[in-house]
Amino acid sequence: MSFESELQRIKEQIIQYLPSDIKVKKIEFEGPEIAVYSENTNLDIIESSDVLKDLAKSMRKRVVFRWNVEERKDPSETEEYIKNLISEDAEITNIEFDHTRGEVIIESVKPGLVIGKKGVNLKEIRLNTFWQPRTIRTPPLASRTISLIRQMLSKERQHQKDILLNIGKRIHRPTLFKELDIRLTALGGFREVGRSCILMQTRDSNILLDVGLNVGNKNDQFPNFDIPEFSLRDLDAVIISHAHLDHSGMVPYLYKYGYRGPIYCTLPTRNLSTMLQLDFVQICEKEGIPMPYSKRDVKSAVLHTIPLSWGKVTDIAPDIKLTLHNSGHILGSSLIHLHFGKGGYNFVYTGDMKYQKTRLLEKAAVKFPRVESLLIESTYGGPQDRIPSRQDSEHELRQILNSTFKRGGKVLIPVLAVGRAQELIIVLEEFISKGIIDQVPIFLDGLISEATAIHTANPDFLSLDLREKILHQGKNPFLSDFFTTVSARDERDNVIMGEPCVILATSGMLIGGPSVQYLKALAEDKNNSLIFVSYQVNGTLGSRIQRGFREIQYTNAKGRTQLVRLNLNVFTLEGFSGHSSRSQISQFLRRIQPKPKLVITNHGEESKCVSLSTMIHKKLRKATKSPKNRETILLK
Ligand SMILES: [Zn+2]
Repeated sequence: MSFESELQRIKEQIIQYLPSDIKVKKIEFEGPEIAVYSENTNLDIIESSDVLKDLAKSMRKRVVFRWNVEERKDPSETEEYIKNLISEDAEITNIEFDHTRGEVIIESVKPGLVIGKKGVNLKEIRLNTFWQPRTIRTPPLASRTISLIRQMLSKERQHQKDILLNIGKRIHRPTLFKELDIRLTALGGFREVGRSCILMQTRDSNILLDVGLNVGNKNDQFPNFDIPEFSLRDLDAVIISHAHLDHSGMVPYLYKYGYRGPIYCTLPTRNLSTMLQLDFVQICEKEGIPMPYSKRDVKSAVLHTIPLSWGKVTDIAPDIKLTLHNSGHILGSSLIHLHFGKGGYNFVYTGDMKYQKTRLLEKAAVKFPRVESLLIESTYGGPQDRIPSRQDSEHELRQILNSTFKRGGKVLIPVLAVGRAQELIIVLEEFISKGIIDQVPIFLDGLISEATAIHTANPDFLSLDLREKILHQGKNPFLSDFFTTVSARDERDNVIMGEPCVILATSGMLIGGPSVQYLKALAEDKNNSLIFVSYQVNGTLGSRIQRGFREIQYTNAKGRTQLVRLNLNVFTLEGFSGHSSRSQISQFLRRIQPKPKLVITNHGEESKCVSLSTMIHKKLRKATKSPKNRETILLK
């Protein structure tokens, strides 16, 4: 069956569900969605009935309606109309038109007031302008990345529409084979941490899960794209579990070499990974390191991204459906559920996962319609990897802070810009407002403030109680004035010369950036403290210091080699980790529903991947595998 006849078949199916007076003019595959164009003005019939729900249920496809394309009110008149209709208390900050989708996007401080009781305002706008209104919240902190992405997308609407039509065609192409033959090939991040990349194949389709960069090892930075199983030309889709560069850092590289297919991830993952990729390009430029890709390729990646929310089943290839679920690791991080064939085979990839509630996020999801095999991370999968409880780590943090301040010292905490930084911001805000520690200044340096702004723009992905605090009690710890952003060099010097304080700075593993500059300046004073709160990848300065290294050698501005002795106190507080401990992994495996038959381990040092796999086999009596990079496993 050809693509056109498939389209015709779906059109007839949709028409059967519609009331007889609704006329369908045209139907298109818009990426994974089906767009139905109608000339009718009585769109209320559809809105108020269960037609859309019934369609989604019976066809297992997402259907959107586009109405009265020709009759839409002029944008400036529509804007006028909306401003008159909505009360000023809603504080509308921007109104924008998406001509290809027929949407008017209304950004406001209080979207609830724009929507009105039971959506009455939205209905009025629809009926009187024929634009489909969409509301978004104005983030309380402005994010440079988000406004850059928005500018880019609003300039390229037509281009993006063409991209979606092409993707739609590819998704809905007919399959050639009856047998699925699902294969998993390890391209990176197996028996190691870094450059996570997994190729999933059926006879018809090719998907990549994560396309990461090795941050700790400059000689082996890229996933194994050179193996014969992988062909960029045949790639259907890329799915990104979360924004950290070891999972998303090489995505733009695919576009540099000609990939033009979609990327699926959550909205915060798109925003945060764009921020990190742009920063990576900038660091390469600054340090004269050859760049694997340019800003233009990052932009290409943004244009091809289709953001998904958790729990939405989406067609991504003729024989594969995707659903994302919370993984509890960082904002927007997701477990990836793939459904192969019709009622066929189900596979879950955890990405980085935390099976424990943190202040920032809910714990990872464990309920799935079906799971035959599971690929699980092993960062803390070794038998020694007992992560202390959050409570114990918070208690210890308190003691370290108070004793350092008493000595007149400063505390440096290297953090990844995304994740641990925001978790600590919430903890420190509580410590100070409850009087548990002195009210010393807390400085944020590097990308932390920008990442925090992105957190405030996506509150829907935060934990329930944090969301409740922010949205309904008006208490937003991210806006507290205990925190000061540092960005210029002289501001940094003032921090170093100043009073006792806490400094949160990137990079989290001391591989460059302001955290290393602070360390050099604070290292020799034994009154100061250095605290690690996140996993330190092998080969980084952070990992060397954790293993007992107490000297740093570096080349100064004059080209001379200099040596700094680390006299400051060094601590590691694992309890703040965004990864599951070995026992949390076990709990996850005991709770996951239904039970997978096969468990595969990755994302951990060699010994941890193997040891976790042995433990799961012995204690949970499951078939397990712990493949090496470049190995292929036949799933069915
Ligand atoms: Zn991560």
